[in-house]
Amino acid sequence: MINSKTKLICLLGHPVGHSKSPEMQNVALELDEINAKYMAFDVKPENLKEAVEGLKAVNFMGANVTIPHKENIMKYVDELTEEARNIGAVNTLYIKKGKLIGDNTDGRGFILSLMEDGGFDPKDKKILILGAGGAAKAISTKLVMEEARELNIFDLDEQKSEMITDNIKKINVKTEIKIIKKCEIEEIAKSVDLIVNCTPVGMKESDPLLLNGNVFSEKQLVFDLIYNPKKTKLLLEAEKKGAKILNGLGMLVYQGALSFEKWTGKKPNSNKMKNKIEGE
Ligand code: NAP
Repeated sequence: MINSKTKLICLLGHPVGHSKSPEMQNVALELDEINAKYMAFDVKPENLKEAVEGLKAVNFMGANVTIPHKENIMKYVDELTEEARNIGAVNTLYIKKGKLIGDNTDGRGFILSLMEDGGFDPKDKKILILGAGGAAKAISTKLVMEEARELNIFDLDEQKSEMITDNIKKINVKTEIKIIKKCEIEEIAKSVDLIVNCTPVGMKESDPLLLNGNVFSEKQLVFDLIYNPKKTKLLLEAEKKGAKILNGLGMLVYQGALSFEKWTGKKPNSNKMKNKIEGE
């Protein structure tokens, strides 16, 4: 029930209509009997500063931040967590001692899903990341912090791979980081322990298969950040060749659960959050 004490938690993005976060966060808030509601707000880039000022003025509880605001929002917070600073992006806002803090739970959400759902420890592993956008930035940073042995990054735009590489080289010099060219991709893909799809390729039925089916093997894990469809062409092909597969649902739930903990100080029921967005 909404009353005069109900607090606001929100999602700031543009667009936000597709987001599953309101459903899964409101279920968790209700289960823990927290008097707060989670709402999605479509905020155009030119209105971001005013939106943050308005939220502070109405004493909001916290927020998630998504495309295209994850980097711009950094200008409007009082402090960044070490994680957000390392990644260079914010997906969570919370209030601590009256200060607005910018954090990033995407990378931690990914690692939790990788370890808990996939049973895969990235330490000393050889990994291929497809795509060098926002999600790849958070994931690569975390994989380097977890001491992966070798990180291979491929994007059609080599400049984007270079930007990620420059950022993560500052964090851990132990991990070998390589920018992969299109002509090298199959050979590298065959040799890695883990392949992570951080491109949006596979969301649409008409999308092509990202990697040739002959690269997959039984000793690999293929992690696709996409969760709708549940199995992309990439995952179906990898599964056919005996590889272990994982979609992005677990990451979505874990990053949301970590944000929830920052806002409320409580660990939410992540199984119930997952069931809600799976429509069970
Ligand atoms: P983004 O910032 O747009 O990055 C995607 C990157 O992939 C871009 O650099 C893009 O290049 C590149 N790319 C596109 N097609 C490619 C191809 N065929 N080969 C290599 N690189 C290619 O998007 P994002 O925010 O990182 O999100 C990426 C995907 O992850 C989306 O599907 C998103 O829904 C998903 N995601 C899931 C979660 C989760 O919790 N499960 C969290 C975050 C993101 P161009 O820009 O040049 O096209």
